[in-house]
Amino acid sequence: MSEQVSLKGKVVIITGAGGGLGKVYAHQFASRGAKVVVNDLGGSLTGSGNSNRAADVVVEEIKKSGGTAAANYDNLVTNPEGILQTALDNFGTVDILINNAGILKDSSFKNMTEKQFTDVLDVHLNGAFKLTKLCWEVFKAKKYGRIIMTASPAGLYGNFGQANYSCAKLALVGFGETLAKEGYNSNIKVNIISLLAKSRMTETVLPPDVLKKLSPEKIAPLVLYLTSEECPSTGSIYEVAAGLFAQIKWQRSSGLYLNPSSDTLTPEAILHKFSKISDFKDSDYPIMLKDYNNVWDVTSKLGKNDQGK
Ligand code: NAD
Repeated sequence: MSEQVSLKGKVVIITGAGGGLGKVYAHQFASRGAKVVVNDLGGSLTGSGNSNRAADVVVEEIKKSGGTAAANYDNLVTNPEGILQTALDNFGTVDILINNAGILKDSSFKNMTEKQFTDVLDVHLNGAFKLTKLCWEVFKAKKYGRIIMTASPAGLYGNFGQANYSCAKLALVGFGETLAKEGYNSNIKVNIISLLAKSRMTETVLPPDVLKKLSPEKIAPLVLYLTSEECPSTGSIYEVAAGLFAQIKWQRSSGLYLNPSSDTLTPEAILHKFSKISDFKDSDYPIMLKDYNNVWDVTSKLGKNDQGK
């Protein structure tokens, strides 16, 4: 096994790299010899306005430190082609895509407008879809690619005032899990991170003593490893914050089996045995292999005597 994580010479596109986490990733990839496309439209937290300054500053800083980077100011949603073109024009290809750009339009669900809902899905989900689709062609052709989807605890667990954001973030989990399967034979690895870090997204909602522990530098090591040649992982969800790196899995309770030939399949049968459905004592961690087996193989959960009845 290699002792080093090698990213030298790799071309990485990082969306939303003009600030926050993306900026930290950009610097760290560049310091490892990667060629970085720093995309950022330079807008506000809610996505309004634009400025070239955010991306330009990061590129200037990287170049000053001897690294290689090119700026791109395109809106991920309306011109994803421009972002890939910047990579192709400057560096001839793309190897790694970090889907990182994002906005917030928080509101309780009662007050959330359709525009607040779709605007957030547009950037996080549709934007990631559009750019990933373009890069996918390159990755498939060269039989190499690494992709990060940026999810969130709000997506995995729900969060008050973020119905739009949590929908988008959980959708990215399913998107990443599926692309991991479709990319497997082409050495395209796709992983999902769910994180918490200090940035303009969190600095008004989290207390200062918590924010102190959440520097974005504590997220970057996992992102770099997951997108390296060395990383075997694909289709996994990782939770990262404050120096903790952990993997998240789906958990299935041991469950209730009603045998159609001997049990009455009624809502009352569920009522009387509902606690069994939520009993996690002998739980397992389902994954989808193929043909839905393992996820759907209920017979594997039955006692020997029940099988074939
Ligand atoms: P941030 O606001 O500092 O960074 C997001 C960047 O994306 C901004 O620079 C913004 O200009 C850019 N951007 C927004 N819309 C864009 C578009 N259409 N095209 C191009 N660029 C665009 O916030 P951050 O905290 O660094 O967030 C980075 C990612 O991490 C986001 O996807 C966010 O949802 C996710 N995330 C952050 C946290 C956290 O604790 N900070 C938690 C969970 C998930």
